[in-house]
Amino acid sequence: MGQPQSKPRFPQPGDHIYCERKGGFYDHHGIYVGDNMVIHLRGAAKKLGELPGCQKCGDKRVENGEIAKVCIDCFLDGETPQIYDYGVSSLEFECRKRGTCCPRHSKPPHEVISTATDLLEQNGFGPYDMFTNNCEHFAVYCKTGSTASFQVERVIATCSVGILAGAAVGLFRNALAKH
Ligand SMILES: [Zn+2]
Repeated sequence: MGQPQSKPRFPQPGDHIYCERKGGFYDHHGIYVGDNMVIHLRGAAKKLGELPGCQKCGDKRVENGEIAKVCIDCFLDGETPQIYDYGVSSLEFECRKRGTCCPRHSKPPHEVISTATDLLEQNGFGPYDMFTNNCEHFAVYCKTGSTASFQVERVIATCSVGILAGAAVGLFRNALAKH
């Protein structure tokens, strides 16, 4: 019996969560801040279909420009929450689906929540852009304080894996040549 790779768990406050949207074409990301509420950056063109007259967040919901705090049911819209992992190794980062983990380490949960709350109050993350300023950038920024380098790290990690693979092939060839 092998260990399950990752046990599904209910999000903890300060977790970066994501779920599929539109049949898996893209994922939507947000920060779970506790009390069943999620803060997320949403595109003007892809406003989430908040449940009409949602009993859970109707009076707690905050919408400030493109940043909004809604209940987890409105955020998930029927999908299953997944937890975005931080502090993974470069190799794991390479092997996993893009947009599910980050090699950088997360800040402590209370700092993550306070960053997300400050950005919500100030509407301070700039306009949504699918490629340069999207919901994943927002969540990664809340978790780590930076969005700039997670794409770059991927390139560096790819190069490192390439160099390691090249070295391994070289060793293998040397070993063969000796026989
Ligand atoms: Zn709701």
